[in-house]
Amino acid sequence: KHMIRFEEVGFRYGNGPEVLRDVDLDLAPGSFHWLTGASGAGKSTLLKLLHLADHPTRGRVEAFGEDLSELKRRHLPKLRRQIGMVFQDFRLLDHLTVFDNVALPLRLARVRDSSLRKDVGEMLDWVGLADVAGADPRTLSGGQQQRVAIARAVVARPLLLLADEPTGSVDEATGTRILRLFQELHRLGTTVLVATHNELLIERFPHPVLRLEDGQLGLVRA
Ligand code: ADP
Ligand code: ADP
Repeated sequence: KHMIRFEEVGFRYGNGPEVLRDVDLDLAPGSFHWLTGASGAGKSTLLKLLHLADHPTRGRVEAFGEDLSELKRRHLPKLRRQIGMVFQDFRLLDHLTVFDNVALPLRLARVRDSSLRKDVGEMLDWVGLADVAGADPRTLSGGQQQRVAIARAVVARPLLLLADEPTGSVDEATGTRILRLFQELHRLGTTVLVATHNELLIERFPHPVLRLEDGQLGLVRA
């Protein structure tokens, strides 16, 4: 069964030009891909569609065996909970503590309190933020906020993990550590797609590389 499949997908903002054109993509379960492309090439837009946060303006999107255009609106949240997303701008909730930001996906999935506390605690330990669990995310550095965003994206063990430049605000050692976490999740069965400009990480972790150019997607390293 396919995880997510795009067929001749096109996307435009309003009446603007098509920023994605004829995108065919089949994310097989258990795959790990890099996504590259110049700034403005459409990486964030592609991730937004993969996150099922918007509909294509052309073509077909199939997610977990369901055709997105035929899916009832009330069924969408359940599908989207299978997808963890690390946003480039983090999108942490300011009125919640670090702990509660990370706990959010578990609360939405109605995970019991005892196991929620354990999972969030372990996750915060892993990303090295246990000592700021009660903090307001706005008081943290960019790198710390990025690690909160990563913890939130992976805490509920999503089937699919999407990350938009997840190492953009951290040093090289932390970036490598984040990639090791992604590798570990991948080993446990999570399908992973990471958009990045970080050539060093792409070299170090030799997964297939997808590249967006002029809104079109190609495979540059198998
Ligand atoms: P990137 O580093 O991925 O190129 P951008 O700076 O282009 O990021 O985009 C940051 C945010 O601004 C995104 O949420 C994107 O959707 C939005 N954005 C980018 N370009 C435009 C635009 N021309 N009009 C409105 N919003 C935009
Ligand atoms: P990337 O992530 O590769 O930098 P984006 O997907 O952010 O690329 O942007 C692709 C194109 O779409 C750019 O030309 C950008 O300006 C435009 N764009 C992105 N978000 C918006 C938006 N909300 N409204 C209008 N144009 C946008």
